[in-house]
Amino acid sequence: MIPLAIVGYGKIAQEEHAPALARSTDFALSALVTHHAADRALPQFATLAELHQARPDITAVVLCTPPLGRLALVAEALSLGLDVMLEKPPAATLSEAEALAALAAGDRVIYAAWHARQSVTIAPAVEWLAGKTVARVDLNWQEDVRDFHPGQDWMWQPGIGVFDPGINALSVVSKLLAGPVLLKRAKLRFPANKCAPIAADLTLSDRTGTPISIALDMNRPGPHTWEIEIVTDAGTMLIAQHSAQAWIDGIPVELPYRTEYDGMYSRFAELITARRSDVDLTPFRLVADTYMIGERVTVPAFEA
Ligand code: NAP
Repeated sequence: MIPLAIVGYGKIAQEEHAPALARSTDFALSALVTHHAADRALPQFATLAELHQARPDITAVVLCTPPLGRLALVAEALSLGLDVMLEKPPAATLSEAEALAALAAGDRVIYAAWHARQSVTIAPAVEWLAGKTVARVDLNWQEDVRDFHPGQDWMWQPGIGVFDPGINALSVVSKLLAGPVLLKRAKLRFPANKCAPIAADLTLSDRTGTPISIALDMNRPGPHTWEIEIVTDAGTMLIAQHSAQAWIDGIPVELPYRTEYDGMYSRFAELITARRSDVDLTPFRLVADTYMIGERVTVPAFEA
């Protein structure tokens, strides 16, 4: 078992990382790096340097902090000889993400994880698509920011907003389709009182012109919807039920049970064993493109 520390013990760390680590046969959650006294019987440290000083046996960390400031944390972790997994998105800006990717050339492992790609439906979908011609892909990503990000001010910083969940849709579509995915048009809806969009409609295509539409909205109270429909020359695949189930022409695909986070930790363990990094910035670059060419529309103020 690889001793690992979580850095930033907020919502996702508590709800997904800690339970996945409790199930992991590869990692042992051994400490937290946190600025608040977390209610756990685990050693807690204020900084990575203090963690390393007290627990040199810990060789891996997962960064569950908000995206701003990730580069400094990754650089420090690497300088302490730690392997690093990052929650998505890898950074706050493209230049910062690229600087981070450049660090992946060293001898430590960096895994910039995209949790949505680890859904049990995605690898079978990639396999099913092999050799088929895709006619159209539609993604519908709707959730309630009040449930997923209660009271999180960082969510509304410029550059984030609906692209916090929306980047998951982009991470999936860029994994499903072979070759580059290109943004054609975007409409971003900014609440009158916020610096980041609450909803967006994206039109993309692959290199052959296959149309891809992505509807993003994080102001949808009620159950969340993360759905993908892929129409091909040899059938249609629907991925739904929070990306956990798939149907081909209406017939359910048999899938194992495992959470996205179980998948992320298995992948991190594989990378550590192989001493390889995995830093794919494609979804993040597509988000940057939407801010570059997206039309901006003001919508009524958002109150939580
Ligand atoms: P969160 O609840 O706000 O937790 C982030 C934690 O990071 C805080 O509790 C804090 O932990 C630490 N932190 C360090 N610097 C901070 C700062 N300047 N502002 C706020 N917190 C700071 O956020 P989260 O929802 O867990 O999201 C963290 C990352 O996971 C984001 O990149 C997000 O995109 C990703 N993610 C979130 C979800 C979700 O459903 N919420 C799902 C998948 C991925 P300490 O007090 O322990 O230092």
